[in-house]
Amino acid sequence: MTENCSSEQTARAQEIARNLDAVRARIEQAARVSGRSADAVTLVAVTKTMPASDVNAALVHGVRVFGENRVQELLGKLPDIRLGEGQCAHLIGHLQTNKVRQVIDKVAMIQSVDSVHLAEEIDKQAAKRGLRMDVLIEVNIGGEEAKSGVPPQDLPALLEAAAGFPHLRVCGLMAVPPVCADKEAVRPYFRAMRKLFIDIAPKKSDNVSMHILSMGMSGDFDIAIEEGSTMVRVGTAIFGRR
Ligand SMILES: *Cc1c(COP(=O)(O)O)cnc(C)c1O
Repeated sequence: MTENCSSEQTARAQEIARNLDAVRARIEQAARVSGRSADAVTLVAVTKTMPASDVNAALVHGVRVFGENRVQELLGKLPDIRLGEGQCAHLIGHLQTNKVRQVIDKVAMIQSVDSVHLAEEIDKQAAKRGLRMDVLIEVNIGGEEAKSGVPPQDLPALLEAAAGFPHLRVCGLMAVPPVCADKEAVRPYFRAMRKLFIDIAPKKSDNVSMHILSMGMSGDFDIAIEEGSTMVRVGTAIFGRR
């Protein structure tokens, strides 16, 4: 036994595995309710504030995508994270343009593009590395002052601008709806996102292919899936309270 296999870490890995099984069962149930297969929903394990050992435990238990909010935290953990075949990181938090350069070749997707300025910088940095960056457009569906995301009415213009950046591929939309005391109260926001997603989906170009709708977190991912989510971002239900 190496130090890494201390019984404490094993217990933690088992806890994460159990939680993951429970989350997957909830995903399956919600997918069934909406007449879809659980395969149609990608689980992003949100690992912010959790140590690299927790990320690794989730990866060993079959998680394909983990999500981090902050560039600095992601870069700090990455050297200790063991990514297997087909496993990758997504950036899900607000991204400042001056950090794009540091993260561009570390993640498979940036879920939080909410301005032309940011899209332009991602395009520029991706071009320098000779890569193409998959992104989602983050929508401020609740119209909340303090939240990032593009206002729904500005989405068409942002999409049109993004379509002009050849080193960027817009794969869909992401949203963090307002926190609601009553779980059901969040449903209309998910529904509104789904409508936006459907309405703009036909607007295809070389750089725009809307197939991902990223919405739903620990408290509400079942409702998000019922309302058409294809990607849920789950932290607390897998790793416990932060
Ligand atoms: C933290 C976070 C999540 C996960 O939230 P939980 O409630 O812990 O599941 C999902 N998406 C974003 C953008 C987050 O910042």
